[in-house]
Amino acid sequence: MVTGVDPGGLDVGQKDRSTGRIQAYTKIWAAGVQASPLGRILAEQSDAAVDRAGRVSVLPDCTLPGHPEVFVVGDLMRLDHLPGVAEVAMQSGLHAAHTIARRLEGDAGQRPFRYHDLGTMATIARFRAVVHIGRLRVTGFAAWLM
Ligand SMILES: Cc1cc2nc3c(=O)[nH]c(=O)nc-3n(C[C@H](O)[C@H](O)[C@H](O)COP(=O)(O)OP(=O)(O)OC[C@H]3O[C@@H](n4cnc5c(N)ncnc54)[C@H](O)[C@@H]3O)c2cc1C
Repeated sequence: MVTGVDPGGLDVGQKDRSTGRIQAYTKIWAAGVQASPLGRILAEQSDAAVDRAGRVSVLPDCTLPGHPEVFVVGDLMRLDHLPGVAEVAMQSGLHAAHTIARRLEGDAGQRPFRYHDLGTMATIARFRAVVHIGRLRVTGFAAWLM
Protein backbone atom coordinates (compact mmCIF):
# COMPACT_ATOMS: atom_id res chain seq x y z
CA MET A 1 0.00 0.00 0.00
CA VAL A 2 1.12 3.54 -0.67
CA THR A 3 1.31 5.21 2.74
CA GLY A 4 2.84 8.53 1.78
CA VAL A 5 3.47 10.76 -1.22
CA ASP A 6 5.86 13.69 -1.45
CA PRO A 7 7.61 15.49 -4.33
CA GLY A 8 10.52 13.04 -4.33
CA GLY A 9 8.72 9.71 -4.16
CA LEU A 10 6.37 7.28 -2.48
CA ASP A 11 6.45 5.50 0.87
CA VAL A 12 5.06 2.00 0.82
CA GLY A 13 4.11 -0.35 3.62
CA GLN A 14 1.55 -2.59 5.24
CA LYS A 15 -0.72 -1.18 7.94
CA ASP A 16 1.68 0.39 10.47
CA ARG A 17 4.84 -1.18 8.99
CA SER A 18 6.96 0.62 6.39
CA THR A 19 8.39 -1.65 3.71
CA GLY A 20 10.30 0.87 1.70
CA ARG A 21 10.41 3.86 -0.56
CA ILE A 22 10.15 4.35 -4.32
CA GLN A 23 11.95 7.40 -5.69
CA ALA A 24 9.83 9.05 -8.40
CA TYR A 25 9.03 12.61 -9.40
CA THR A 26 6.15 11.51 -11.61
CA LYS A 27 3.43 9.40 -9.99
CA ILE A 28 0.41 7.92 -11.75
CA TRP A 29 -2.42 7.01 -9.39
CA ALA A 30 -4.28 4.03 -10.84
CA ALA A 31 -5.80 2.57 -7.68
CA GLY A 32 -9.27 3.92 -8.43
CA VAL A 33 -11.63 5.51 -5.95
CA GLN A 34 -13.59 4.04 -3.07
CA ALA A 35 -17.17 5.03 -2.35
CA SER A 36 -18.11 6.57 0.99
CA PRO A 37 -18.54 4.07 3.89
CA LEU A 38 -22.14 5.30 3.96
CA GLY A 39 -22.78 2.90 1.06
CA ARG A 40 -22.11 -0.16 3.19
CA ILE A 41 -24.25 1.19 6.00
CA LEU A 42 -27.15 1.69 3.59
CA ALA A 43 -26.67 -1.81 2.17
CA GLU A 44 -26.69 -3.34 5.66
CA GLN A 45 -30.02 -1.65 6.38
CA SER A 46 -31.63 -2.92 3.17
CA ASP A 47 -31.40 -5.77 0.71
CA ALA A 48 -29.05 -3.84 -1.55
CA ALA A 49 -25.69 -5.26 -2.60
CA VAL A 50 -22.40 -3.34 -2.65
CA ASP A 51 -19.66 -3.87 -5.21
CA ARG A 52 -15.91 -3.94 -4.64
CA ALA A 53 -15.72 -0.15 -4.83
CA GLY A 54 -18.44 0.19 -2.20
CA ARG A 55 -21.15 1.33 -4.60
CA VAL A 56 -24.74 0.41 -3.77
CA SER A 57 -26.90 -1.46 -6.29
CA VAL A 58 -30.15 0.42 -6.66
CA LEU A 59 -33.47 -0.19 -8.39
CA PRO A 60 -33.97 1.41 -11.83
CA ASP A 61 -35.48 4.52 -10.20
CA CYS A 62 -32.34 5.03 -8.04
CA THR A 63 -34.04 3.91 -4.81
CA LEU A 64 -32.96 1.24 -2.36
CA PRO A 65 -34.75 -2.13 -2.59
CA GLY A 66 -37.65 -2.05 -0.10
CA HIS A 67 -37.02 1.63 0.65
CA PRO A 68 -38.63 3.86 -1.99
CA GLU A 69 -38.00 6.81 0.34
CA VAL A 70 -34.19 6.40 0.08
CA PHE A 71 -32.38 7.46 -3.09
CA VAL A 72 -28.74 6.69 -3.83
CA VAL A 73 -27.27 8.81 -6.62
CA GLY A 74 -23.93 9.83 -8.07
CA ASP A 75 -20.72 8.01 -7.28
CA LEU A 76 -22.38 5.96 -4.54
CA MET A 77 -24.91 4.48 -6.98
CA ARG A 78 -24.39 1.29 -8.98
CA LEU A 79 -26.78 1.06 -11.90
CA ASP A 80 -26.52 -0.14 -15.51
CA HIS A 81 -22.69 -0.04 -15.49
CA LEU A 82 -22.83 3.77 -15.50
CA PRO A 83 -19.42 5.36 -14.92
CA GLY A 84 -18.56 7.43 -11.86
CA VAL A 85 -18.50 10.80 -13.60
CA ALA A 86 -19.97 14.19 -12.87
CA GLU A 87 -22.68 14.00 -15.52
CA VAL A 88 -24.11 10.78 -14.06
CA ALA A 89 -24.08 12.39 -10.60
CA MET A 90 -25.90 15.50 -11.80
CA GLN A 91 -28.52 13.65 -13.85
CA SER A 92 -29.24 11.04 -11.18
CA GLY A 93 -29.52 13.80 -8.58
CA LEU A 94 -32.03 15.61 -10.77
CA HIS A 95 -33.95 12.38 -11.29
CA ALA A 96 -34.30 11.93 -7.53
CA ALA A 97 -35.34 15.56 -7.05
CA HIS A 98 -37.98 15.36 -9.78
CA THR A 99 -39.33 12.09 -8.36
CA ILE A 100 -39.69 13.64 -4.90
CA ALA A 101 -41.39 16.73 -6.36
CA ARG A 102 -43.84 14.55 -8.29
CA ARG A 103 -44.65 12.51 -5.19
CA LEU A 104 -45.45 15.70 -3.28
CA GLU A 105 -47.93 16.52 -6.05
CA GLY A 106 -49.59 13.12 -5.58
CA ASP A 107 -47.96 11.24 -8.47
CA ALA A 108 -46.44 8.07 -6.97
CA GLY A 109 -45.57 6.45 -10.32
CA GLN A 110 -42.08 4.92 -10.51
CA ARG A 111 -40.01 6.11 -13.46
CA PRO A 112 -36.66 4.53 -14.27
CA PHE A 113 -33.60 6.75 -14.45
CA ARG A 114 -32.46 7.17 -18.03
CA TYR A 115 -28.96 8.50 -18.51
CA HIS A 116 -28.43 10.80 -21.47
CA ASP A 117 -24.81 10.54 -22.53
CA LEU A 118 -23.90 14.12 -23.39
CA GLY A 119 -20.25 13.22 -23.79
CA THR A 120 -17.21 13.15 -21.56
CA MET A 121 -15.12 16.03 -20.25
CA ALA A 122 -11.97 15.77 -18.18
CA THR A 123 -9.79 18.62 -16.95
CA ILE A 124 -6.25 17.26 -17.03
CA ALA A 125 -4.25 20.36 -16.11
CA ARG A 126 -4.59 24.09 -15.78
CA PHE A 127 -6.18 25.37 -19.02
CA ARG A 128 -6.08 21.88 -20.57
CA ALA A 129 -8.86 19.35 -20.97
CA VAL A 130 -10.16 16.53 -23.12
CA VAL A 131 -13.68 16.55 -24.54
CA HIS A 132 -15.48 13.74 -26.36
CA ILE A 133 -18.97 14.50 -27.64
CA GLY A 134 -20.16 11.91 -30.10
CA ARG A 135 -17.58 11.91 -32.87
CA LEU A 136 -16.20 15.29 -31.79
CA ARG A 137 -12.79 15.16 -30.13
CA VAL A 138 -11.36 18.37 -28.68
CA THR A 139 -8.22 18.73 -26.54
CA GLY A 140 -6.16 21.49 -24.96
CA PHE A 141 -7.28 25.05 -24.27
CA ALA A 142 -10.38 24.90 -26.49
CA ALA A 143 -11.59 21.83 -24.60
CA TRP A 144 -10.92 23.56 -21.28
CA LEU A 145 -13.06 26.53 -22.40
CA MET A 146 -15.89 24.11 -23.27
C1 LIG B 1 -9.31 12.98 -9.27
C2 LIG B 1 -10.67 12.95 -9.89
C3 LIG B 1 -10.88 13.56 -11.12
C4 LIG B 1 -12.13 13.52 -11.71
N1 LIG B 1 -12.30 14.13 -12.93
C5 LIG B 1 -13.50 14.11 -13.52
C6 LIG B 1 -13.69 14.72 -14.78
O1 LIG B 1 -12.76 15.30 -15.36
N2 LIG B 1 -14.92 14.67 -15.36
C7 LIG B 1 -15.98 14.05 -14.73
O2 LIG B 1 -17.08 14.04 -15.29
N3 LIG B 1 -15.83 13.47 -13.51
C8 LIG B 1 -14.62 13.47 -12.91
N4 LIG B 1 -14.45 12.87 -11.68
C9 LIG B 1 -15.59 12.20 -11.08
C10 LIG B 1 -16.52 13.22 -10.41
O3 LIG B 1 -15.76 14.04 -9.55
C11 LIG B 1 -17.55 12.45 -9.62
O4 LIG B 1 -18.21 11.52 -10.45
C12 LIG B 1 -18.59 13.39 -9.01
O5 LIG B 1 -17.98 14.35 -8.20
C13 LIG B 1 -19.59 12.58 -8.17
O6 LIG B 1 -20.46 13.45 -7.52
P1 LIG B 1 -21.15 13.01 -6.17
O7 LIG B 1 -22.00 14.16 -5.77
O8 LIG B 1 -21.77 11.67 -6.35
O9 LIG B 1 -19.98 12.78 -5.13
P2 LIG B 1 -18.90 13.83 -4.58
O10 LIG B 1 -18.66 14.93 -5.55
O11 LIG B 1 -17.76 13.00 -4.12
O12 LIG B 1 -19.64 14.49 -3.36
C14 LIG B 1 -19.90 13.75 -2.18
C15 LIG B 1 -19.83 14.71 -1.02
O13 LIG B 1 -20.31 14.06 0.15
C16 LIG B 1 -19.47 14.40 1.21
N5 LIG B 1 -19.63 13.35 2.22
C17 LIG B 1 -19.15 12.08 2.20
N6 LIG B 1 -19.51 11.42 3.32
C18 LIG B 1 -20.24 12.28 4.04
C19 LIG B 1 -20.89 12.19 5.29
N7 LIG B 1 -20.87 11.08 6.03
N8 LIG B 1 -21.55 13.29 5.73
C20 LIG B 1 -21.59 14.43 4.99
N9 LIG B 1 -21.00 14.56 3.80
C21 LIG B 1 -20.33 13.51 3.34
C22 LIG B 1 -18.09 14.47 0.62
O14 LIG B 1 -17.24 15.25 1.43
C23 LIG B 1 -18.41 15.16 -0.71
O15 LIG B 1 -18.38 16.56 -0.61
C24 LIG B 1 -13.20 12.89 -11.07
C25 LIG B 1 -13.01 12.30 -9.81
C26 LIG B 1 -11.75 12.31 -9.23
C27 LIG B 1 -11.54 11.67 -7.90
